[in-house]
Amino acid sequence: MEQVDYIIVGAGYAGIFFAHQLIKEKKSFRIFYDEAVSASHISAGVCNPVILKRFNTFWKSQEQIDYLNIIFKEIESYTFRNYLIEENVVRIFHNDSEKVQWKKNSEKEGLSSYLNPDFINLQSVENPYGAGKVNRSCRIDVASFFSDMLNYLEHNQYLIKENFNHQLIDKASNTYNNIAFKNIVFCEGIASNNNPLFSDIPIQPNKGHCLKVKLHHTPDSYIIKKKHFLFNLQDNEYYYGGTYDRFDTTYQINDDSVEELRNGLQEICTSDFKIQDINVAFRATVADRRPVLGRHQQHHNFYIFNGLGARGVYNGSYFSKVLFDFIENEMNLEPEIDVKRFY
Ligand SMILES: Cc1cc2nc3c(=O)[nH]c(=O)nc-3n(C[C@H](O)[C@H](O)[C@H](O)COP(=O)(O)OP(=O)(O)OC[C@H]3O[C@@H](n4cnc5c(N)ncnc54)[C@H](O)[C@@H]3O)c2cc1C
Repeated sequence: MEQVDYIIVGAGYAGIFFAHQLIKEKKSFRIFYDEAVSASHISAGVCNPVILKRFNTFWKSQEQIDYLNIIFKEIESYTFRNYLIEENVVRIFHNDSEKVQWKKNSEKEGLSSYLNPDFINLQSVENPYGAGKVNRSCRIDVASFFSDMLNYLEHNQYLIKENFNHQLIDKASNTYNNIAFKNIVFCEGIASNNNPLFSDIPIQPNKGHCLKVKLHHTPDSYIIKKKHFLFNLQDNEYYYGGTYDRFDTTYQINDDSVEELRNGLQEICTSDFKIQDINVAFRATVADRRPVLGRHQQHHNFYIFNGLGARGVYNGSYFSKVLFDFIENEMNLEPEIDVKRFY
């Protein structure tokens, strides 16, 4: 029988960032990945400390930005690739009053380091009122990050490309098939609702569509946001997305969402574009918009790491360390994120 410190279930941002903590701390583990396309794998990878509707920020944004640079340096030390792309988010203004609001907020404590007070005019898209730049925003190279991390995990015998079957957990002996484990961390995204141990945690799916489009213009080197994010991937290929839908829980492509994206892009792009690819996945969200982490109320070696919402990169990276420190170093979880708030 194989003995490990941890089993991780799921290889999206939550599972992969938690795996990183274990690699760093030299813990033994196995990570189960069912190879389904998930929110993480189709995400834009944008790391943006500003809520672009209200020009505000969110809980622990500063700590999350600071930690992002640390964790990606650590990961680079064994994958030998930098995944942080130093492109800033720019928000196209809808009207003059938004500019006034931006300027006002840019003078507020907690926002002044993010909201750049000097407006810019983009060359590649329609922006008659100009745009505001978000300092300290960036994005990650999502495709390379997941492909490198999954290769690394596979090469080092951490990865099990299988669906994890909850019925096969033997709670009395702490075994799963031929693996004896100390802890299991469930990082299952919306599939958490099918996990008998955590199905009572109210994880709500929020469906997102995004596009890969061919565009023929010279890109501004920014992550451009009006209704959705637009940025250049390579050559003439661009990412555009994503939509939000709390009601549709089917996996089919929804024509209305595609139309919403098409219209959003048409509003800012004067040149023709061709949709190459449409992707769909579900964000795992929670009504209070805070991640969910912590210990199962009866089985104290079973943990959940979920509810990353629309901020998988920030939440996944930062809270993977918080969860590790909670399990291994007896650090407390703040009540805002503790799964206990649902018990
Ligand atoms: C269109 C779109 C764009 C987005 N853009 C951004 C962005 O720009 N920036 C950002 O920070 N966030 C973004 N997000 C949000 C981000 O993708 C999510 O917060 C994040 O993916 C959640 O990660 P997760 O690991 O919790 O869940 P998931 O990504 O859903 O991963 C869970 C994984 O676990 C696997 N799994 C589940 N059950 C089992 C099982 N029993 N056995 C084996 N494997 C299992 C699933 O197949 C999946 O691979 C976006 C989301 C969408 C949909």
